[in-house]
Amino acid sequence: MNETFSSALRLAETLAGSAIAVLAADFIVGVFHWIEDAYLRDDCPVLGRLIARPNILHHYRPRHFLRNSWIASCWDLWLVSAALVAAAWALDRLTLPVCVFAVLVGNANQIHKWAHRSRRENGPSINLLHDLRILQGPRHHAIHHTDPKSTHYCVITEWLNPVLERLRFWTRLECGLRKTFGIRRRSDTSNRRHGFTPEWILLAEQG
Ligand SMILES: [Zn+2]
Ligand SMILES: [Zn+2]
Repeated sequence: MNETFSSALRLAETLAGSAIAVLAADFIVGVFHWIEDAYLRDDCPVLGRLIARPNILHHYRPRHFLRNSWIASCWDLWLVSAALVAAAWALDRLTLPVCVFAVLVGNANQIHKWAHRSRRENGPSINLLHDLRILQGPRHHAIHHTDPKSTHYCVITEWLNPVLERLRFWTRLECGLRKTFGIRRRSDTSNRRHGFTPEWILLAEQG
């Protein structure tokens, strides 16, 4: 009886831990997305070309990144996830929640791509994950791509964004950074009447 109870308790702990890992992965990915959208500029050394430009292009032409393969979209995040799994293994802390977190973070860009594909492009298994609200679907993600494009930064699930928006989490964070350090959001010129389209966007569209 005691053994059955402790097994059930361990299972409940693992399931609860995995649910928390899903939310943690969604939040971490959302934080990096927010930093890119709000503060990373295309003229920033190294990161401007590597991260800011693809991110800015995504706001102008949301389906442009669909031409990238799964590997091209996720190899860098796979490296981060592999390092995390290796560290957890070395510390004897490699659990199911750690694996769930690593898999979701490692494939966040691909999950994001699925939210930009049509149902026909995604196929039945991805459509099912969207229909069951297990992964974030196109309708939910479209809110992020609606001007002023300053909400709904989390791209893995549909659970966290409503809570963060209700708390005005990102707005308060930006307000705190502005008042404390004088750091202001960059202008997102993909919004209507927010400035001119950078020339490199027009060149990228031709490529
Ligand atoms: Zn964005
Ligand atoms: Zn998107």
